[in-house]
Order: sequence, then structure tokens, then C-alpha cells
Amino acid sequence: CNRNPDEAEFHQVVKEIFDSLIPVIAQHPEYIKQSILERIVEPERLITFRVPWVDDEGNIHVNRGYRVQFNSAIGPYKGGLRFHPSVNPSVIKFLGFEQIFKNSLTGQPIGGGKGGADFDPKGKSDAEIMRFSQSFMHELGQHIGPDVDIPAGDIGVGPREIGYMFGQYKKMQGRFEAGTITGKGMNYGGSLVRKEATGYGTIYFVEKMLEKQGISFKDQTVAVSGSGNVSIYAIEKAKELGAKVVTCSDSDGYIYDEQGIDVETVKRLKEVERRRIEDYTDEHPHAKYFESPTDVWTVPCTVALPCATQQEIDEETANQLIKNGVIAVGEGANMPTTLEAINVFKKNNVHFAPAKAANAGGVAVSSLEMAQNNMGFSWSFDEVDGRLREIMKNIYDNSSEAAETYGYAGDLVIGANISGFLKVADAMVAQGVV
Ligand code: NDP
Repeated sequence: CNRNPDEAEFHQVVKEIFDSLIPVIAQHPEYIKQSILERIVEPERLITFRVPWVDDEGNIHVNRGYRVQFNSAIGPYKGGLRFHPSVNPSVIKFLGFEQIFKNSLTGQPIGGGKGGADFDPKGKSDAEIMRFSQSFMHELGQHIGPDVDIPAGDIGVGPREIGYMFGQYKKMQGRFEAGTITGKGMNYGGSLVRKEATGYGTIYFVEKMLEKQGISFKDQTVAVSGSGNVSIYAIEKAKELGAKVVTCSDSDGYIYDEQGIDVETVKRLKEVERRRIEDYTDEHPHAKYFESPTDVWTVPCTVALPCATQQEIDEETANQLIKNGVIAVGEGANMPTTLEAINVFKKNNVHFAPAKAANAGGVAVSSLEMAQNNMGFSWSFDEVDGRLREIMKNIYDNSSEAAETYGYAGDLVIGANISGFLKVADAMVAQGVV
């Protein structure tokens, strides 16, 4: 903490992961001898840079850009870019640290990284978004490459921003290097299912977790937060599996639709028209809109899927969800549940799917996008979706097995941390002190 003051998010994630590694470290003296924990917690590199840009009125603005290249023991750095005013070194480091273990869990050869800027895309014109994305890439582009660091999207960075950044990178390099960035459009090197991957993957993981208890998604009442990329495709897949999804939200408020959220409306409002979720009620007047987004968790549900942002569910909210009958929680977003809330769920036997396992589908398919770019051809939707399902199943099995091996049977939080850690730690030991 002394070395990284004022980094609350980073402290939370390090504490959560390191606490769960205690039984592992006890059995592996070589990790202590090699100072693996001291080394893994220090980013290999944290790049901070100025992002100047000009708005439509000719005013000059300056934002701050970041890229943390956290760990490259098992492959080149890989992780998304976030454009949001809350972005700071603590947020980027928490996301980057988490990404090391998540990427390891996918079984793909990818290290951990993350980046972004404290830029607020809300209310900006298309031309402003383009100029910002180009200026951001003008600096970031000097630090990435297919064998070095491969960024992707995250909050505030979708196909539009990826397109502008890829265009700028291509211009800087003077060549078409598709494998440098993932989440690309289908007509210039993207992969089918990438758009759906995180949301679908979360549902595949929770489906597997429920299946182990003899429960299916059919007839579950599901509450989802957010209405962005992860939320939309989690809603779509949960509905496909027979669940009734009754909520979605944005940072202004939430929708409760007793008849079930119409995902096509949400897709159009958010992906095409870039409107607020409040407008859902224009087309579905029976649905209700509430102005407090966090109250989405007061809606009774059996499965809760926080898919918006970090720290959405605290202890009090967790107790409320339990009172309302929740049996399972799946983290689509990164760190949406506080440590205290996770403990409440564990104590009350709520099945809990932690983010680093449950939302790894996005980066897994990003890795499949890189593989397709390398080979120079594309797989079909069913081929990629099948691989995603298999990867999510393996993540579940490996996390579950690791928890059992180290005496925490059924605890997927601990199991995912251990399973993700072992591969990276062994690679670090093998590569010496670098
Ligand atoms: P998007 O930008 O597409 O969507 C984010 C959604 O969350 C929006 O609906 C946004 O509303 C809402 N939101 C943001 N802040 C708040 C808040 N404080 N309260 C309520 N709602 C809020 O992002 P993604 O869907 O891509 O990402 C969502 C989460 O999933 C993040 O934690 C991200 O790190 C994680 N994730 C994403 C992956 C991906 O592949 N996209 C992969 C793995 C994890 P508004 O429009 O009002 O801001």
C-alpha cells in the first residue's frame, strides 16, 4: 500500500488474489525463493501519455492516456482499452492485474495488459471521437504490435473506436498488421462472435455452474445491469436458454420490464442510435424506468448478472438480493462485487461466478481473432461459438478442480485465482529473474 498510495481498486484486487494464494504458496517454496508475488504485483511497464485533441468548435483539450504492460510471462500483453472519466492509474492497474490471471485461465498464450484514457465519449460527435482515437493511437501505437501488446475494447471503446484506432495505427506503420488490435470490424480482419463473446461467455459459465447443482437457466428470473456490449449479449443468450430477463440499466437509471427485456430494442437504442436506456419505455410503455441505477438490485431475481462497472454490489445490496431469493451471481463486468459482498454470498451459499473466470470469453475470442489473422482466414460463427463454449467449460472445470485440490471445494473465486496463477508463476520461475 505504501508503494501505491491512493490506489483503492488496485489494493482490493491484489488483496483478493493474494489471500486466495496462501495455500498455494505454502506448497511451493520455489515461489517464495523466486519472489514471485513481489514480482508479479509490479507492472513490467506503466506508460502514461498526453492525448491532445481538438473539438468541433476548435477548442483544444488534453486528456491522459495509459497502458499498463503488466506481465508477459506466457505471451504478449493483451487487454482492453477503456475511455471513461474515472480512468486513473489505480483503475488501469486493477484491470491489468486481473487480466494476467484471466488470460491465463483461457488457456491461450496471452499475457496481461490494460489501458485507456480519462476521456468521456458521452455527447461527443463522431468527428471528435475520431480525432481523440487517432491522437490516442498516435502515442500508444509506438508501444504495441502483434508480438508485443495487442489492445482491444472495453467501456467506451467499441467497434467505432477500434476502427479509428486501427486506421491510425495502419497509417503509422505503413502496413496492414491485423493482429495488433482485436475487436475489428468483420470486413477488415475481425472475428465472428467477438461482439457477443463476453456476454455469451458469462452465460455459458453460469450455465455450467448451475448445471452442477442440477439447475438450468430455464424459468430463472434474471436481473442484468448495464446496457452495453456485455449486458446486451448476456441478455440475448440468457433469453435463448429460457430465462426471463427483467432489467437493464445505464449510468442514469434502470428499466424494469415485467414481460422480459426486448433485447432487439436495447441493441438498436445503444448500438445504433446511441440513446439513453430511458427511451426503452417509448416503445414498451408497460415497462418502468427508475432514475437510480444502483436500485436495479432491489428487483427480485434468482440470478443476478452485474455487467456494467466495478463496485456495483456492496454488502447491503448483497443482503437485499439474498432476501429477494437470488441463488446465483455471475460477474459480467470487472470487479462489480465488493469483497464484503462476495463474503456475504459465500456465507449464504449463493453460487458465485467471479469475473476473471466468467467474463474471460471476450479475451478468449480476441485470441481466436489473432489466430485467424495469423492464418489469414476466418472461421464460421458456429465454429467460434463452439470454441468459446469449450473454453468457458474448461475454465469452469479448471477453477473448480483447483479449488478442490487446495481444500476450497466449490469456491470458484479461489479456484480461478489459483488456476490462473499457477501457469504464470511456473513460467516466471522457468524464465529466471527478468
Ligand atoms: P460498454 O461501454 O459497452 O457498456 C457499459 C455499460 O455500463 C453502459 O450501459 C454504461 O452506461 C453502464 N455503466 C457505466 N458506468 C455505470 C454506473 N456507474 N452505473 C450504472 N451503469 C453504468 O462496456 P462493456 O459492456 O464493454 O463493459 C462492461 C463491463 O464489462 C466493464 O467492467 C468491462 O471492463 C467488462 N468487460 C468487458 C469486456 C468486453 O469484451 N467488452 C470483456 C471483459 C470485461 P452509460 O452508457 O450511461 O455509461
